[in-house]
Amino acid sequence: MITCIYCGYECPDNAHICPNCGKPIIKESMHKQPTFDDIKESLRREKAGVKQEEPRSQTPLIMAACVVLLIALAIYKYL
Ligand SMILES: [Zn+2]
Repeated sequence: MITCIYCGYECPDNAHICPNCGKPIIKESMHKQPTFDDIKESLRREKAGVKQEEPRSQTPLIMAACVVLLIALAIYKYL
């Protein structure tokens, strides 16, 4: 069990967020400070994740824009 440092709630060991107050759980047993390399690595992973998600998230927007444009053209023809 991990005790939440914010509210004192006893959270499961695998919890990342306190179920009671919703704050991120800081494991007190982990006294190891993150090294500069750890921070760089996590930042690089975040950036890589964002870059991978961009093309996938843009495609439905382009599809939606095309559909709206086609509908607008269809309506314009009927007027
Ligand atoms: Zn809490």
